[in-house]
Amino acid sequence: MLTLNNITRFFEQKVKHNICPSCNSGQWSVIGEENNVFVVKIPLDQKLESMAIGPHMPAIGLMCQNCYYLKFYSYNQIVASIEQMDENK
Ligand SMILES: [Zn+2]
Repeated sequence: MLTLNNITRFFEQKVKHNICPSCNSGQWSVIGEENNVFVVKIPLDQKLESMAIGPHMPAIGLMCQNCYYLKFYSYNQIVASIEQMDENK
């Protein structure tokens, strides 16, 4: 399970340009509730009607604390990267 601590460690090590493209702030919050990180489902389809049940890409969402701009990172790739970081300790 992906914890807030793991996510924070991932972003500290991997993300070098953390400025919001909308407002130039640098304060982001992971989308979740208390210590629980939410997995965001980004629908992948060409037809709007089937978006509710079609294939999707799991993602971790971050929101700018100043202007509420949203950005997303691949959940699967973050999990793989964290596992690799743990193996290289
Ligand atoms: Zn912003």
